[in-house]
Amino acid sequence: MNANLPTPCLHRVHSGNPEGSFRMHHSLGVSVERTDLVRRLNRLNLNARRREMPDRSVLVTFDDGWVDPVALAPHFRSWSRLQPTLFLTMRQTSGDQSLLPLPRLYEWCSATGTSLAKVEEAGMTRKQLKLLPEKEQHEWLDRLEVPRISASPEILAAAEIVNLMNEGWIVGSHGHDHHDLRLDDPVDLQMCLRKARDAVTTIGGKPWLAWPEGRCTASTCEAARLAGFEKQFSLRVESESIQRSDLVHRDIWS
Ligand SMILES: [Zn+2]
Repeated sequence: MNANLPTPCLHRVHSGNPEGSFRMHHSLGVSVERTDLVRRLNRLNLNARRREMPDRSVLVTFDDGWVDPVALAPHFRSWSRLQPTLFLTMRQTSGDQSLLPLPRLYEWCSATGTSLAKVEEAGMTRKQLKLLPEKEQHEWLDRLEVPRISASPEILAAAEIVNLMNEGWIVGSHGHDHHDLRLDDPVDLQMCLRKARDAVTTIGGKPWLAWPEGRCTASTCEAARLAGFEKQFSLRVESESIQRSDLVHRDIWS
């Protein structure tokens, strides 16, 4: 899969200059400009054709359930070698459109003109937040009086997920809880990953797992395999040292 070609990992996609919360995502390297992205994906498709790779054999992955890639659906119809793939959290596979903790924080920062540095002065960094389970991340944001956003139009609705799947998009799992899972208890982890696997296959997705934050270890990968995941995806910058035939290292395109 994607032999010698990168496996892009994408999040948000903006048009023209990034506005509102896109500005923060862009500055953190997780929002790309649409025209620029179309150009890069065109090139990726062309490279795959030159290498005579089979149709839909080059994965292009989108994490975190953003609605942004929907605008690319018409392009993917003509990029015959590329296979768009969504990695959704377990809640998103059941139609939950709430913002994950960090996007919730970015939304609030951009709405109130508060800088991330200011938030971090309050005693919690992005890095530390990523280590906590989602529930605890949300509770910490509650204490800062950051509003919860439970039905964001920026997150894919169940019907949109179905439409994309009907167009041939693959859906995989982004785990049962969006945090760094490397320190979780191995027995609990395997059990929770099994639930995430069942949730994604129940809606017609594949038993594929993209590790939250791209972080995994040899033992978490083994737990995922035992939980029934047939393919796993990390981020090269986070987990390149782990080599397994069922693990794909992706590159964030920014
Ligand atoms: Zn993610």
